[in-house]
Amino acid sequence: MENIYDLIIIGAGPAGLSAGLYGARAKMKTLIIEKDKTGGQIVTTEEVANYPGSVPNATGPSLIARMVEQCEEFGAEKIKDNIIEVNFDEKIKILKGEKGEYKGKAVVVATGASPRKLGVPGEKEFTGKGVSYCATCDGDFFTDFEVFAIGGGDTAVEEAMFLTKFARKVTIVHRRDELRAAKSIQEKAFKNPKLEIMYNTVVKELKGDGILESIVFENRETGEIWEHKADEEDGTMGVFVFVGYMPQTDLFKGKLEMDDRGYLLTDNEMRTNIPGVFGAGDCRQKVLRQVVTATADGAIASIMAEKYIDENFEE
Ligand code: NAP
Repeated sequence: MENIYDLIIIGAGPAGLSAGLYGARAKMKTLIIEKDKTGGQIVTTEEVANYPGSVPNATGPSLIARMVEQCEEFGAEKIKDNIIEVNFDEKIKILKGEKGEYKGKAVVVATGASPRKLGVPGEKEFTGKGVSYCATCDGDFFTDFEVFAIGGGDTAVEEAMFLTKFARKVTIVHRRDELRAAKSIQEKAFKNPKLEIMYNTVVKELKGDGILESIVFENRETGEIWEHKADEEDGTMGVFVFVGYMPQTDLFKGKLEMDDRGYLLTDNEMRTNIPGVFGAGDCRQKVLRQVVTATADGAIASIMAEKYIDENFEE
């Protein structure tokens, strides 16, 4: 007999894992497909302090490990594959991956978002050679070096603070004259003696010979342009880019409705414009992108998928 899942979830971050838990608990035949590492962006976070009930010193990876355990306890299947094509035209939805084809009565898109790039010359060339998008992954490489954190939001300021554990000095480089980060986060940052903030400044270019050696900055108020060279003894320095995120929704362009930045448009019950296809988590247009809202989205999407299946498929 053909293998048709009740619910297929694309993405195994907090939204996808929550959808998986609710799907499996509702006794739906549930499959979670992840192309990359399980856990999404939260596994790059050292401390999860704002998820209600999380224990002191809870890390992103420990929270995700528990979410996966819960999903599997209730019988959700989880596989690794990269979905490259989707067909939502028929009642049974078809997802084509690099390893196989998957069919389901309902689909939850929980593909999340990925770090936005600065888009300056040298950024690509020096990624992994001085330029990074993940403090938890790469902070350690810059022990006792000088580090710059680009951006002024919650991520930039929190991650810059984390980087002070390793680097001898961390400078936040922000394009405006005030930070966007929450006041509580800013207050902590202002007290950190290893942290400096350079306002009204943007990165124009990253330069080096095989490894990042200098940064060209521009002051947006005065127009002054200068090149900051790595200390001669160090030979290099770190540039950590935290300038927001982009939804990972390219696969659904022309199929699912999205806003001009590519975030999926759903209603409050996570329904997209296609019956039986739901959106959840950071890939969705919403006001707050946090683990707590992602898990809530995932739960709602699964419950609504169950309702949709009950109403549209006979036993
Ligand atoms: P964000 O809030 O969108 O901030 C992005 C920052 O990057 C802004 O300061 C922006 O400057 C700057 N920026 C954007 N493009 C730039 C460019 N090309 N060059 C230089 N600077 C650029 O992103 P985020 O900080 O990653 O946060 C994303 C979401 O996650 C937010 O909702 C945030 O609240 C949430 N979050 C929460 C926590 C927490 O609660 N602990 C931690 C991390 C993230 P402007 O200010 O000038 O626009």
